Amino acid sequence: MKGFAMLEIGKTGWIEKDYPTCGPLDAICRPLALAPCTSDVHTVWEGALGNRHDMILGHEGVGEIVEVGALVKDFKPGDKVLVPAITPDWNSLEAQAGFSMHSTGMNSGWKFSNFKDGVFGEYFHVNDADGNLALLPEGISPMEGAMLSDMVPTGFHGAELADVQYGDSVLVIGIGPVGLMSVAGAALRGAGRLIAVGTRPVCKEAASFYGATDFVSYKNGPIDEQVLEMTGGKGVDKVIIAGGTVDTFQEAVKALKPGGRIGNVNYLGSGEYINIPRVEWGVGMGHKNIVGGLMPGGRLRMEKLSSLVLNGRLDVSKLITHTFEGFEHVEDALMLMKDKPADLIKPVVII
Ligand code: NDP
Ligand code: ZN
Repeated sequence: MKGFAMLEIGKTGWIEKDYPTCGPLDAICRPLALAPCTSDVHTVWEGALGNRHDMILGHEGVGEIVEVGALVKDFKPGDKVLVPAITPDWNSLEAQAGFSMHSTGMNSGWKFSNFKDGVFGEYFHVNDADGNLALLPEGISPMEGAMLSDMVPTGFHGAELADVQYGDSVLVIGIGPVGLMSVAGAALRGAGRLIAVGTRPVCKEAASFYGATDFVSYKNGPIDEQVLEMTGGKGVDKVIIAGGTVDTFQEAVKALKPGGRIGNVNYLGSGEYINIPRVEWGVGMGHKNIVGGLMPGGRLRMEKLSSLVLNGRLDVSKLITHTFEGFEHVEDALMLMKDKPADLIKPVVII
């Protein structure tokens, strides 16, 4: 079978691979819709995970099941399924401890296009099918379903990590597709003032749609200075980081009130250390919490998030700015994600 792969750091190309083997708990799918991710760009062109050789890329998509293992109970060939980017081993001790995304090792719930071939293949393998897949509901298109793999759950996890409460003032740093879903997640959790950081007009327009009340440009000087000015020197209750660099944490800490929380879902592709500003961190006593996390993945989350779409509480279509038809266009879609033209939020390939 064919797949679009990372050949080595900085290089991609089409390769031939064997049809994947289906274990007793697993499923094999063929893609119906696929989307590239900024994470694929970090992985290939920044070498953020280290080198990978001939690894099929991609972790966002909707599929149709072509084969299931003997022990799979709830799915059968022909089912159309939502596929989470993070597919934990649900019987691991880490999952039992509440950290499914780190099942069998740090970030190891992230398997597609990290430890194993991703979804940009003619077929792809899903571990623990009953624990990870969810039926694509009637009423959600494969294209919309592809946004439920990673953009919605990751952006929403940012709002969970920051523990957004009713009326909180929230700063969302980065309003690419992930940050936009953090804006939407924070709004659904009851944020009051919601300040979004980003510059591309198409993203700002979408951020307003999802609930941003104010904007800051990181190009106009330090984010914290602008936020402190806007909030009478007080700062915000919560910060969600969905863009920027290792240095963004300094701005986030400075913009945060004592007792506040920073939730990071940004994939830090480069830089050795994250520096925390001593004074603004309350000289070690400011109760400013910083937590970063990979989204948990799995079926229950897919079902719950798709319920938001089905019941009209979340419109993911605003994320999709570019569409392609045909599997071979996966390459074009990924290159678009790498080049990030000004009018791009997210491309999707329909197969
Ligand atoms: P985008 O590149 O589309 O968006 C990045 C956003 O950050 C843009 O709004 C951009 O502004 C803004 N930005 C850029 N530089 C800075 C800066 N110095 N300070 C503040 N804001 C800045 O990315 P995505 O939304 O696709 O993804 C966001 C991150 O989330 C990526 O790192 C991605 O790899 C990661 N990710 C993490 C996952 C997880 O599970 N933890 C899963 C999926 C993605 P502008 O409008 O000017 O472009
Ligand atoms: Zn992704």
